[in-house]
Amino acid sequence: MSYRPPPSAALLRRRPVRSLLSPLRERRFTYEAYGALLDRLRQVRVVPLREFEGSEGGHLPVVGLRHDVDSRLESALVLARMEAGRGLRATYFVLHTAPYYDRSTGLAGALRELQELGHEVGLHSDLVTLELARGLDPRWVLARELEWLRREGLEIVGVAGHGSYEARKHGFLNHLFFSDLPARAPRFPNNDVGLRGEKLDASGLTRGTLSEFGLRYDADFLDNDSYFADSYFDERGRRWHPDGFDPSHLPPGSKAILLTHPCHWDASLPAKVGRVWQRGGSALLRRGGSEAE
Ligand SMILES: [Zn+2]
Repeated sequence: MSYRPPPSAALLRRRPVRSLLSPLRERRFTYEAYGALLDRLRQVRVVPLREFEGSEGGHLPVVGLRHDVDSRLESALVLARMEAGRGLRATYFVLHTAPYYDRSTGLAGALRELQELGHEVGLHSDLVTLELARGLDPRWVLARELEWLRREGLEIVGVAGHGSYEARKHGFLNHLFFSDLPARAPRFPNNDVGLRGEKLDASGLTRGTLSEFGLRYDADFLDNDSYFADSYFDERGRRWHPDGFDPSHLPPGSKAILLTHPCHWDASLPAKVGRVWQRGGSALLRRGGSEAE
């Protein structure tokens, strides 16, 4: 069974019924199942992404554990505590345009907790979206967010581009802000730029480099031998689940990245049903149920 990032057209399609049934289709995305994955990961060398490039597994495979926190920071904290309880460290990319990213709430404390548990906190970049959709200066936004995060004691050296709804609709890539990265991101669904004849002319974008903002890497451009993501789907539209993923079967010394989105994981099926159906109506119907990743 091959899993791949869905094309933007599929993600943008209005499918409210499918979305409302998603808790049943995705009932295996529970914290218990995630815990079972973590138990299997104890057989390999797990690193946060800032250590990925320099890591050598020797006789063990190396797995870089990545989380894109598109929504539900509280679910990220659950996963983070589970990982820390097993002595595992991961990277949490926090989305500066997400509803949870509100400095007036307990955001700084929650992010510090992630770091204090041993994890890395990185920035999930939505910079090109902000420039194109809201007319904001992305250099100013990035500088302001990094300054705040670092003042709060967080060590931010990594970014990862967010596949926003607008990015999919208009066929751009958030990492295009960084002029020192290639225009195309490996495996990213929005590689179908120009989907609707609205091809973006990147020459007009405001840009910057990773190093001038004190950043060392973009997670989508780390060399790896294999890549697994719960944002990938098979031909029948089923989301990839790590149930069948046995990291001990990875070749010794090989390097894999495993991406999960905390927003897809819940305490139980009833919790998942309650959450999705409560949110249900308005949001899902408005956006046709397509979720950014
Ligand atoms: Zn995302």
